[in-house]
Amino acid sequence: MVGDTFSQSLWSAITPPGPDLPALAGEEVADIVLVGAGYLGLNTALTLAAEGVSVVLIEAQEPGFGASGRNTGFVVPTLKKALSPANVVASFGKARGEAFSRMIGGSGERLFSLVQRLGIPDAEQTGWLQPAHSRAALESNRAQVAEWQALGFDVRLLGRGETRAMTGMPGYHGAMYIPTGGQVNPLAYARGLTRACLAAGVRIFARSAVTGIAPAPGGGWRLRSAGGQVTAREVVLTTNAMVGPLCRKVDASIIPTRSFQIATQRFDAEMQARILPARAPVADTRRHLFAARWSPDGRIVGGGLVYPGPGRMARTRRRFERRFARFLPELGAVRAEYAWTGTVSVTLDGLPRLYRLGEGLWAPIACNGRGVALTTAFGHELGRFLAGRTSAEDFVVPITQPDPVPLRAFATLGPYLWLPWSEFRDRIETETPA
Ligand SMILES: Cc1cc2nc3c(=O)[nH]c(=O)nc-3n(C[C@H](O)[C@H](O)[C@H](O)COP(=O)(O)OP(=O)(O)OC[C@H]3O[C@@H](n4cnc5c(N)ncnc54)[C@H](O)[C@@H]3O)c2cc1C
Repeated sequence: MVGDTFSQSLWSAITPPGPDLPALAGEEVADIVLVGAGYLGLNTALTLAAEGVSVVLIEAQEPGFGASGRNTGFVVPTLKKALSPANVVASFGKARGEAFSRMIGGSGERLFSLVQRLGIPDAEQTGWLQPAHSRAALESNRAQVAEWQALGFDVRLLGRGETRAMTGMPGYHGAMYIPTGGQVNPLAYARGLTRACLAAGVRIFARSAVTGIAPAPGGGWRLRSAGGQVTAREVVLTTNAMVGPLCRKVDASIIPTRSFQIATQRFDAEMQARILPARAPVADTRRHLFAARWSPDGRIVGGGLVYPGPGRMARTRRRFERRFARFLPELGAVRAEYAWTGTVSVTLDGLPRLYRLGEGLWAPIACNGRGVALTTAFGHELGRFLAGRTSAEDFVVPITQPDPVPLRAFATLGPYLWLPWSEFRDRIETETPA
């Protein structure tokens, strides 16, 4: 088991502390209680508070402790190619599918206008780039660009020259470019949202893992932590991949997948002007995608899956050091000065969910590795739904019951078994442009 690495991340090192929060003690009563202060819990709470709903938000550790405080900070207003607008319509039907894709397409704009309004630092709306490693990948980019443009979004296909100018990398055939995307300091975003929630009247308790949920005698639900309890009409589990024993049914419906991140040594302004000079984060079309960005303090940050086997933390760290040096040779020798992991919750079809576990008991699952912009927009929609502003029929995702992932014990191994095969396919398929 890899130990917890929250405090070892670059983001923990460079982000000013969040507000002091009490632990849950005694009895609290609210209209709605949310469990888990990641982006989803925080954005849902913020919208609920703006709607005049009384909200308690309970966090096991501190806001941003989960995926929200340790991700790469890419703001990506799209989903993977299998979830293009047309494919989502095929899954959700026309009205809901289009509403969902509009939410995704507008999620970058929503996030950056929110961080600007709240004065959250280290957010850069530089756009997001998906460079194509082969001609076939470029054609796939072209098809996705056309679908997003048909919905009215500013999504562009860049040629080889423009891609090289924006990335400083010669090996790509072109790129999908979404100007409304960009990058944030993920922990600063979580802490900024926490401050905004407190200012809006949300009561937030930290270091208070919820250990039990039971029907309350007079209706609604009662939640228990070691120090206190909360009674509320409705409960929302925004616990993402960390749901664990709190709700076995939800846990069984996702595949928790470890992701590894490194931040290199610092580079000077001259290097930052040569590599990724547009400061748009890059996540290419490879199966094991190459992902990289500049941090606010001049480091390259990125990562991917943990390589399996004994000594995997040290081995994965070396693999990513070598990967950065290979993809960005101008950097010279690469040294990971920070290395950490986080857990992504993956659903089998890659789409977010809203589970209805009982009368007034909800569990949204919205991660799938592209959740920074998505949870921002989805939390807003969820807040409106819980406040009675939208009906279940009009909600952006279908409201369902959790389906267990078949053969989950084997499914959790899938991403690791898949890694060598993917890298092999990537090597075969990669074509250097003529
Ligand atoms: C390493 C990594 C890199 C990523 N990079 C990107 C990226 O660049 N771009 C992108 O779009 N997405 C990225 N993602 C995905 C993105 O970070 C997530 O989709 C998003 O942060 C999920 O937010 P959330 O609020 O749903 O969950 P989380 O942030 O995981 O929050 C869940 C919270 O629930 C709390 N909790 C759990 N159980 C309990 C309990 N019993 N009681 C109280 N609290 C509890 C946890 O402590 C945690 O704080 C990445 C994810 C990882 C792990």
